[in-house]
Amino acid sequence: MKYHELANFYYQIEKTTSRIQMTNLLVELFKSTPKESIDKVVYLSIGRIAPEYTGLEYNFGEKLAIRAIAELLNIDEHDIQKKLIETGDLGEAVKIIAEEKGVSTEPRLTVEEVYRTLRQIAETTGYGSLKKKTELFKELVKKATPLEIKYLIRTLTERLRLGIGDNTIMDALAIAFTGEQKNRPVIERAYNLTSDLGYVAKVLVEKGLEGVKEIKIEIGRPIRPMLAERMAIPSFILKKLGGKCGAEYKYDGERIQVHRKGDTFYLFSRRLENITQQFPDLIEFLKESTPDEYIMELEAVVIDPTSGAIRPFQDLMNRRVKYVTRFHIMMYPIAGFLFDLLYLKGEDYTVKPYPDRRKKLEEVVKVTERINLATRKVIDNVEDLETFFHQAIEDGCEGLVCKSLAPDSIYQAGKRGYLWIKYKRDYKSHLADTLDLVVVGAFYGKGTRAGKFGSLLMACYDPETDQFKTVCKVGSGFKEDDFDKLDEILSPHRIDHKHPRVNSILSADIWYEPFLVLEITGAELTLSPVHTCAWDKIKPSRGLGLRFPRFTGRYRFDKRPEDATTEQEIIEMYKNQIQIKV
Ligand code: ATP
Repeated sequence: MKYHELANFYYQIEKTTSRIQMTNLLVELFKSTPKESIDKVVYLSIGRIAPEYTGLEYNFGEKLAIRAIAELLNIDEHDIQKKLIETGDLGEAVKIIAEEKGVSTEPRLTVEEVYRTLRQIAETTGYGSLKKKTELFKELVKKATPLEIKYLIRTLTERLRLGIGDNTIMDALAIAFTGEQKNRPVIERAYNLTSDLGYVAKVLVEKGLEGVKEIKIEIGRPIRPMLAERMAIPSFILKKLGGKCGAEYKYDGERIQVHRKGDTFYLFSRRLENITQQFPDLIEFLKESTPDEYIMELEAVVIDPTSGAIRPFQDLMNRRVKYVTRFHIMMYPIAGFLFDLLYLKGEDYTVKPYPDRRKKLEEVVKVTERINLATRKVIDNVEDLETFFHQAIEDGCEGLVCKSLAPDSIYQAGKRGYLWIKYKRDYKSHLADTLDLVVVGAFYGKGTRAGKFGSLLMACYDPETDQFKTVCKVGSGFKEDDFDKLDEILSPHRIDHKHPRVNSILSADIWYEPFLVLEITGAELTLSPVHTCAWDKIKPSRGLGLRFPRFTGRYRFDKRPEDATTEQEIIEMYKNQIQIKV
């Protein structure tokens, strides 16, 4: 398969403003892909070389690309810089220069060759790696057309900016290889168990839908996390859970999925990055406390080792460093609270009800000072639920996660549902909980911020339509250095029109590919004629907007745009808010 086909696809996607068109383009691309290359094309279409959990990154900065291009095309680096300032995109800048220099437009590269070389670039590390990466890049560029160079640069510098989401890929795979979008749930299940869309696509192409149904959990491949819905009124929670639930402390730490096979451990974060290197101490504790083959989930917190008390979330953030030293381990001692069992010695526990999973967890875990089970109580009345909630807060937790005890209370990988309901302290206020919203656009500021952005257009996520729908314009809560920081984070994601997956009535001055999630608080949710969240769902021609929105200062780098607060959650919060007011 010629790489040119992929470059053309990128070009078309960049121009489209419709989600349907985006899916159709992907369907065409997948259909024209040879069987043996489908996994590679899936990764490349989302700008990656392998699934996120492998941690494989290019680590190829713009400076490196500029130097290599200058040498190859025999031009001054400054000329490239100048073009970059003019166009705002290095890929586009180099494409224009390459055209001016008469670089051949005859397609010669194949997808397979590009993938192989990009993979080599990503895998090259250590001493002398920059030189080797540059050489490999140059080999590709020598054979590439100007359009291909543009996308090679964007891919390598991790600025592809197409914003194709997992759901769009899954829709397109279902249509391309089974003829019907309604088969997506089978693909989705396999993806939720493996977190690897390239692998699922390969099985689909080689073994069909039946093969995909056979895909099983494997140690080393993260399972997409089960998530909780939220409710603010204890009696409603109990009612929703059939009058009885397993209430567990909701620890305010970092969610970690632990995979163990003998002495080999893999730790995955909430967004499924491989964070094994960050917690050598936790691994040692787990070696002592847990069986030798399993997948479990825990919440890691920093504790005071003498009293055992949980220390604030901020302390844990100090452990989020690339290289953990003895200093970090001593200053910020970690404890793990296990709350779920997903797999044990060849047996899939995700299909078993929660009471069985918890019982097994209690059986196989040896509790120590640093490894414990989430504190839990089976509760069947409001008074006990309130008391337990206050006890959780006193013990330094955020509140409770109330879990269904029903026979169908399986572990729903990758799903947010009412089998788990979170009940948090902030729900006592008018606006139940903060919102995690995605930046989709920005508006220019006034006065000292003229010419720069003054407020951001924020959206929630609707998994049904795979769209980002607006909820508010936020301009307060930012500190002066936040603006610079946001500028730096967002500018590589700037696009010249509304992203096809963004649903907005408001027309922003600047548009961004959905990428960054910020935590936003506000006074209350109200019906809105300008925001598209919950449009027509509560009242005709009205959506839901957040009044007096404010940035809390918390950048949610741990969340992907698709992990943002969903439209359905906002509808629930709006209803809860009305109930609290009454
Ligand atoms: P939040 O932003 O409130 O942490 P979230 O979107 O990360 O929410 P939710 O599903 O909404 O995730 O809330 C559940 C989260 O609470 C889990 O992701 C996990 O990190 C944390 N947690 C703490 N204690 C528990 C527990 N006992 N059982 C399940 N999850 C727990």
